[in-house]
Amino acid sequence: MKTVTIVVSVYNEEEALPEFYRVTKEVLEQVDWEYELLFVNDGSRDGSLAVLQHLAENDDRVKLISFSRNFGHEAAMIAGLDYSSGDMVICMDADLQHPPQCIPEILQAAEAGYDVVNMVRTKNSSAGFLKRITSAGFYKVINALADVSFEENASDFFAVSRKAVEVLKHSYREKVRFLRGYVQNLGFKRINLEYEAGVRVAGKSKYSMKKLFTFAVNTILCFSNLPLKLGIYAGIFSGALGFLVMIYTIWTWTQVGTPDGYATIVVLLCFMFAMLFLIVGIIGEYIAILFSELKDRPIYIVDFTTNIVQKRDR
Ligand code: UDP
Ligand code: MG
Repeated sequence: MKTVTIVVSVYNEEEALPEFYRVTKEVLEQVDWEYELLFVNDGSRDGSLAVLQHLAENDDRVKLISFSRNFGHEAAMIAGLDYSSGDMVICMDADLQHPPQCIPEILQAAEAGYDVVNMVRTKNSSAGFLKRITSAGFYKVINALADVSFEENASDFFAVSRKAVEVLKHSYREKVRFLRGYVQNLGFKRINLEYEAGVRVAGKSKYSMKKLFTFAVNTILCFSNLPLKLGIYAGIFSGALGFLVMIYTIWTWTQVGTPDGYATIVVLLCFMFAMLFLIVGIIGEYIAILFSELKDRPIYIVDFTTNIVQKRDR
């Protein structure tokens, strides 16, 4: 019999967890796959850990990895992939926004030979207007800039086969990363399935607008080198502008004598410096990414695990 690992990242979800466990368990009991429920406690500050430990004590299909502190959703998913043992791994949120009812459909796709199952949101009832607009804008920008393409409305709800897990585990250990983007660009046999994002069962979203913005900028930087070329275009542009101004100045000099260009100088100076600083800033961002890559600090630190026998092979 084949096994499926459900990876669930948990950060302050004590209220949502019992309901999540109940619903997911119910669905998993009905499919004819072996299963393990792998929870990653991402340094929760509420009672989530106690709830998870309680679940793990009473059900040995519940596995638990507990981080030493909060490392973020992506790190939690990567840890889940690292420690998973299933032939298929499904990543989902603990707040039931990713309906467990989709699991049988995902497993059907897996049985049909698909290696990557990408869950695409058709409706996001809980996201506000601003979040929807910015999300759409983000995908427009990234698709225009990056050399790979991204599915709009894709989510952190996806399933990958063992083959794909091994690739993600070993070859995508970047420090600044976008797991969802990697999943979509792995290749293999891939299918998109639709789902309707539910409302959070309890608690509130952990992603602030500021976090999302940093996330968006990092994603653009790590999937595209185009911003670096901005310097070249800016150079050509200011060179051309300078040349035109020079011709104009010589012409006025021959006609009316030495020109008085105080305002022009100030405006141009501000404009040029703004462009220069912007480009230096962009280069700085890339250097920051290089630096964190070079330091090679761990993506996550595990405090302890429960019910996990196999050693992480990485
Ligand atoms: N999460 C996490 N670490 C974090 C933030 C979030 O593991 O630092 C988990 C969270 O518990 C949830 C999932 O990631 O299971 C998605 O988070 P959330 O629901 O807050 O995001 P949203 O659905 O609002 O995008
Ligand atoms: Mg959510």
